[in-house]
Amino acid sequence: MEKCSGKSVQGGVAAARLRFLRPVGQQTDVPAGTPEQELARLEQALRKAAEQQNALYEQTAAEAGEEVAQVFSIHAMMLEDECFTGPIRDRVRAGESCACAVRASARELAAQFAAMEDEYMRERSADVEDIAQELLAALAGDRPAEAAQAEPFIAAAEDLTPSQTVRLDKKLLRGIVTRGGSSNSHTAILARSLGLPALVQCPGVGPDWDGRMAVLDADEGTLTPDPGPAELAAAREKAERAARQARELEQLRGLPNTTRDGRTVEVYANIGGTDELELASDQDAGGVGLFRSEFLYLHSGDYPTEEEQFAAYRAALEHFAPRRVVVRTCDIGADKTVDYMGLAKEENPALGLRAVRLCLSRPQFFKTQLRALARASAFGSLSVMFPMIISAAEVRRCKELLAECCRELKAEKVPVGPIELGVMIETPAAALCADELAEEVDFFSIGTNDLTQYTCALDRQNAALEPFSDPHHPAVLRLIEMTVQAGHRHGCWVGICGELGADLTLTETFLKMGVDEFSVNPVSILPLRGAIRRSSAR
Ligand code: PEP
Ligand code: MG
Repeated sequence: MEKCSGKSVQGGVAAARLRFLRPVGQQTDVPAGTPEQELARLEQALRKAAEQQNALYEQTAAEAGEEVAQVFSIHAMMLEDECFTGPIRDRVRAGESCACAVRASARELAAQFAAMEDEYMRERSADVEDIAQELLAALAGDRPAEAAQAEPFIAAAEDLTPSQTVRLDKKLLRGIVTRGGSSNSHTAILARSLGLPALVQCPGVGPDWDGRMAVLDADEGTLTPDPGPAELAAAREKAERAARQARELEQLRGLPNTTRDGRTVEVYANIGGTDELELASDQDAGGVGLFRSEFLYLHSGDYPTEEEQFAAYRAALEHFAPRRVVVRTCDIGADKTVDYMGLAKEENPALGLRAVRLCLSRPQFFKTQLRALARASAFGSLSVMFPMIISAAEVRRCKELLAECCRELKAEKVPVGPIELGVMIETPAAALCADELAEEVDFFSIGTNDLTQYTCALDRQNAALEPFSDPHHPAVLRLIEMTVQAGHRHGCWVGICGELGADLTLTETFLKMGVDEFSVNPVSILPLRGAIRRSSAR
């Protein structure tokens, strides 16, 4: 059998026997009695399944917290909801067995959810399937086999339901792999909250893997069956090392980002979309320091509408309220292109019509995003920043367009909240003109990825330039320091949202420069907090 790959939703390594779990409640089908008898069985099973979901809520709330447990109280409510139970009762009255009626009605309802536009609603089809399986198990007096494991194991399944996931023996469970699933699925959320390595979308695993030893390397996104003794020993050592480090990092959860000499800074998360919100808060982010809004454009086959954008920004703001969420306006162009925009081919796209330049040359397009942002501002603490700025005139033009949108919305009686404004400092021009830019905004966020590329004239996409690149180039560090000083002279806070912010060898240098905020990949948050707490800012 070959090593197979999947999408990692929680990193880590596990070496254990693999158990391929069958779906609950698909095993038995009791022949139909009279409709009256079947209805009585159904009512009893509905009550039993709801009681079990309430018990799972209590268990999960104790193990992983109330937020993660919510799903089970929703399930219990669905088991009492006419939308779910009505069609089942109708089918039973018409002569179908309870099991057939549950399967058919659940299939229909799950398909309705799966066809919905909204990603969150689409995910709910998994909830319908989950409660249907639980109801089938209650009807059959069936209890899932996964409770009875005797040795450490990796759970694999077609798509593990939340109810199955929480029933797994956590003392023995070492990892999770599903053939389906997504980074938003409950399996993923639960795996993250339990800190277990997990892969979704791993179609290579199947029932024929059941009982075999396997190495799950969720850092690499692979599952290897039948490992040799050396492979097994290496995986176990890696797992132990990772567990030790994870325990150390866990101690940092909830602690302030305060240096040894008493300076406290902010540590926020960089995210590419609403599907990363959960991960960011799981990793204890103090807010979002960079929401790369262009992913809304890249994931879409056509211009995302104002409504679609509003829904995404609102979700992020509500998720983190009252904490800050910094949304960067659309940074399309250079390496991030989409066909529907019909962008002209350029000789030097990295120096071309990208980011704010593209937005300012298409004001109606830009205003769709600015209106969506202004509407979302009523739902949390919104900061908006403009990318690839090189002059104060550009910032003023962006502000005029935003003000125009706010005026229009007010005339439409749509509420608009306060909006903090900032610019990305990612061109040498912006760093050198930081004093002028600071007059226009409330904050700076330094994009070290592009700042390095433009300062050192090194194409960040070109791997052949690796030997010539120095990520700690003194020119870049000097521009960062100048930016911080200029920002502070004018009362702006200054953050770093490029990759250099997560480089722990530079943390103390940045703190001594006076950097106020670091925005990093969610998994870098706790290690960075550790580095800040070991550093001195003077
Ligand atoms: C940067 O340039 O440092 C940055 C954060 O933006 P991106 O990597 O998205 O260009
Ligand atoms: Mg950039």
